[in-house]
Amino acid sequence: MTELLNGKEFAKFHGQHLQAEIDQLKEKGIFPHFCVINIGDDPASAVYVRTKKRKAEKLGIQQDIFQLPSSTTEAEVFALIDRLNQDPEINGIMVQLPMPKHLDPEKVLDRIDPEKDVDGLTSTNVGRLWQGSHFVEPATAAGIIALLKHYGVELTGKNCVIIGRSNIVGKPLAALMLEENATVSILHSKTQNLARLTKTADILVSAVGQAGFVTKDMIKPGAVVIDVGINRVDGKLVGDVAFDEVSPLVKMITPVPGGIGPITVEFLMEGVIKLTRRQYGR
Ligand code: NDP
Repeated sequence: MTELLNGKEFAKFHGQHLQAEIDQLKEKGIFPHFCVINIGDDPASAVYVRTKKRKAEKLGIQQDIFQLPSSTTEAEVFALIDRLNQDPEINGIMVQLPMPKHLDPEKVLDRIDPEKDVDGLTSTNVGRLWQGSHFVEPATAAGIIALLKHYGVELTGKNCVIIGRSNIVGKPLAALMLEENATVSILHSKTQNLARLTKTADILVSAVGQAGFVTKDMIKPGAVVIDVGINRVDGKLVGDVAFDEVSPLVKMITPVPGGIGPITVEFLMEGVIKLTRRQYGR
């Protein structure tokens, strides 16, 4: 029988612990405060920013959203980030991606103080992630590891195959899986004979962004499949995995929607709390 890895339920369960932590901080007079900078008018970003706002409100995390026009210059973004970096009341900062083409995302992200870098995307925090000395991790990757542990999926010695090598999903997830003693392969658009490699996966993660990309002929029977993809087909949200044909073959699988999406926003908030605790030395 295939087990559904229910991200929505897990996020709810995890949210109770997070809420307890936030309440404890507030009793000590500490009010976690998070800032999101969104530059331009990307429609998907607007949805993600709203989702974060709702989640922060629900947990009682203070959140400021800075909506900047597409014409914002690098100097203007830097000035805002510098001000937030210096404000002792602010515990976490993130810049929503993608940003307008005239801005260099690496330069903008690197302007964030690593101690306030909720997304874990500054070069300092990426380095720490690969060194094993990290204190904040990109939320999707951290959430996937926590979901696997919650469902009792052992990573030690397992073959983990990740399709996608982005800085926000594929690469950080590879670092965290390696830390859990898995054997990790990262596949991408130049990988030859993809299915030969995906068929070796005890745990297969797809973070490509193409509906129906992972088909049954790419699966090792009994595998655990994590579908990170978010695609819109005929107005419906679907993942990368051809769910109907793949799910009967596997041991566990995440649905879309209700899989990795709710976990990502949950673990973003956990990042805010981790940084807040660290800033207050608790
Ligand atoms: P990117 O576009 O940055 O990365 C996509 C990756 O897929 C790239 O590494 C690319 O390879 C690879 N790829 C593309 N085509 C192929 C192919 N034919 N064969 C093998 N690999 C291929 O995307 P993100 O990592 O930002 O996001 C991936 C998906 O996950 C998207 O649908 C996004 O919306 C979703 N997402 C979902 C989240 C959630 O909370 N559920 C959070 C973050 C993202 P190459 O590097 O060679 O171009």
